[in-house]
Amino acid sequence: MVEVRLEGVVKRFGRTTALKGIDLEVRDGEVMVLLGPSGCGKTTTLRIIAGLEKPDEGKVYFGDKDVTLLPPRERNISMVFQSYAVWPHMKVYENIAFPLKIKKVPEQEVKKRVKWAAELLQIEELLDRYPHQLSGGQRQRVAVARAIVVEPEVLLMDEPLSNLDALLRVKMRSEIKKLQRRVGVTMIYVTHDQTEAMVIADRIAVMSEGKIMQVGSPEEVYEEPANTFVAGFLGSPSMNLVEADAKPGNGMTAIRLGSGEIRIPTRLQGDRVIVGVRPEKILFVPSKEDQVELEAEVDFIENLGSDKIVHLRLGDTLLVAKTTETPPGSQGSRVRIYIRLRDLKVFRPDGERIL
Ligand code: ATP
Repeated sequence: MVEVRLEGVVKRFGRTTALKGIDLEVRDGEVMVLLGPSGCGKTTTLRIIAGLEKPDEGKVYFGDKDVTLLPPRERNISMVFQSYAVWPHMKVYENIAFPLKIKKVPEQEVKKRVKWAAELLQIEELLDRYPHQLSGGQRQRVAVARAIVVEPEVLLMDEPLSNLDALLRVKMRSEIKKLQRRVGVTMIYVTHDQTEAMVIADRIAVMSEGKIMQVGSPEEVYEEPANTFVAGFLGSPSMNLVEADAKPGNGMTAIRLGSGEIRIPTRLQGDRVIVGVRPEKILFVPSKEDQVELEAEVDFIENLGSDKIVHLRLGDTLLVAKTTETPPGSQGSRVRIYIRLRDLKVFRPDGERIL
């Protein structure tokens, strides 16, 4: 187990700058998830940590050791990829034992370690089978067992669950988290799936276009997004982000939202802002806290079973609310909505959070 640090990492592929200066500290024994849309540079970051790519600028450290130019075999890492990459001609036992045999670990020790990894992944019964005799989920367990059997300092996972069906993904993601807790290995995990990130991560690094937009615990990035990108990327439905006029007054600012007005007890600079509110923070009954009250028209309601998604119209402004209760009113009716002041996020027009 070791801390991993990236300092000013830049990576170019021809004219594309895939990474534009990545600074990231992954603590010893934590799960850091790299989350972001396709092409934002997650895999490139992981490959640089693995030593499969060299950065054009910047450094990579494992603990105090500068590993920037070290080849993968001289870093104590294991990787698990989206494709299971288990060898079809080897039985499960041999697949798991393979990296130990390369390291010339004595036979007795190999047996012990394979047994340990197989038990952890609950595949002891499968050791005598060939990969084609396994399900997708079982094959991925073999790949994970083979990755941990060498007891790496750093375990790197690149979308390891994306070939599995939805139910199995849900099961495997919590198993991976439990496994990491038991083994205590530092883990860096790439995904574009925000729910997977929220479940697995101790901390999430949200990436966009070769940059890190925010690093924080799942709660922090969800509740306190640093900018509109993070606010919009996490959450389903995503955060309502509405451009609005702002009028600074005496120690306060009045923000026009549709036909209503929100007064916040802070004087903001500038006359345009972006107001953010999560769908589940739009309330249909008043709270006991400081809040704004607005009138809206119900546009339509989606019933998702436990959740109802209510599309609301405030003049030209559209808002999406999420509730587990029966929403008041139906299509076309006018309703009152309430938003607690502490649930309002305010961003500058360039996306940076100001409140
Ligand atoms: P995905 O979720 O789709 O895998 P990602 O976030 O992992 O995306 P990367 O694979 O790191 O993104 O790619 C980042 C950028 O670098 C993309 O624009 C990609 O096209 C480019 N890129 C990555 N590898 C290469 C390469 N070997 N040659 C040229 N361009 C590359």
